[in-house]
Amino acid sequence: TLLRGLRASGTTCSSEAVRTFGSQAPVTATLFPGDGIGPEIAEAVQKIFKAAEAPIEWDVQLIGKEVDPRTISYVTRENLDSVLKHRIGLKGPMATPIGKGFRSLNLTLRKELGLYANVRPCLSIPGYKTRYDNVNLVTIRENTEGEYSGLEHEVVPGVVESLKIITRVASTRVAEFAFDYARKNGRKKVTAVHKANIMKLADGLFIKCCREVSEKYPEIEYDEMIVDNTCMQIVTRPSQFDVMCMPNLYGDIISDLCAGLIGGLGLTPSGNIGAGGLALMEAVHGTAPDITGKDLANPTALLLSGVMMLRHLQMNEYATRIEKACLGTIAEGKVLTRDLGGRSKCSEFTSAIIDNL
Ligand code: NAD
Repeated sequence: TLLRGLRASGTTCSSEAVRTFGSQAPVTATLFPGDGIGPEIAEAVQKIFKAAEAPIEWDVQLIGKEVDPRTISYVTRENLDSVLKHRIGLKGPMATPIGKGFRSLNLTLRKELGLYANVRPCLSIPGYKTRYDNVNLVTIRENTEGEYSGLEHEVVPGVVESLKIITRVASTRVAEFAFDYARKNGRKKVTAVHKANIMKLADGLFIKCCREVSEKYPEIEYDEMIVDNTCMQIVTRPSQFDVMCMPNLYGDIISDLCAGLIGGLGLTPSGNIGAGGLALMEAVHGTAPDITGKDLANPTALLLSGVMMLRHLQMNEYATRIEKACLGTIAEGKVLTRDLGGRSKCSEFTSAIIDNL
């Protein structure tokens, strides 16, 4: 009861609460299987978690078939309440129907759940060859404002004004998250990515907040880099980066660029973190309509998002066990899905991971 109370109050990080009460007690997590290949890869994750005896009970939530007027979205109020209740969740890809009069699913989840930081670790996967073999960086993206504030209008025909909002509160919050993440994960450096040479006030405020926060973390090196140069540096020498912290738009673009370094979106997990440690982890890729229902999807991105979820809950033993089995299966190279250059089905790849647990 106390654990639920602490979580509900939002005054403490859920992971701290879980640690206090022992990580072996089952925790209920919301699961959005999502659309397209989502249900196939969600089933694979559930099977692997079960085989690894990870103490997670799933509250499976399906997105509505019609717009819920309470959320102006296909995400229903019940969907949101499930995450707010459990404070931890895993999300498969979702197809946003095209049309007017409702909000995108991801935007609804982000706004309604207050998910202010997007975390995307990018690590070279042993045995899976890309042009880069030494990538080990994490992008942290401010998730609530910047160019994505949704404030734009046509001033006169042919002229559109689109507002970029940067606030001290949101910039400091995400900077604190980035430094805290670096400290907790034994990382050495945080790089703030910006364009303050041109957007002197907006990005100027963002890096000012990052600088102020950096002073509270003397053991962590801090530097700043202009976003265009950052792109060039990422593709020429990614090993120079550790944790990167940036406003919304740069984070959206750079996190995909970094995913490309390690083999693409099918392998990349991510997490969206909100106040009080509320967290919704998600695979970065979309619904893959071209391979839906064919047992061809690669469940790695969703599985590694599940591993992030377990780490967030301080269930590190289970996280490491599942991660090792997944990466080990890829490194062996015997049973691989088509996107990884193999000929195996999703179900065969899932069984191979289970055999490697
Ligand atoms: P996509 O990521 O669905 O597919 C791009 C390519 O990658 C396809 O060839 C697909 O087969 C392949 N692919 C993706 N994930 C894979 C996996 N796990 N295993 C094997 N191959 C995989 O991108 P898209 O086609 O641009 O988008 C399709 C739909 O997904 C759209 O409706 C879009 O809005 C939605 N989408 C949702 C999210 C999300 O929910 N976070 C993210 C991106 C796209």
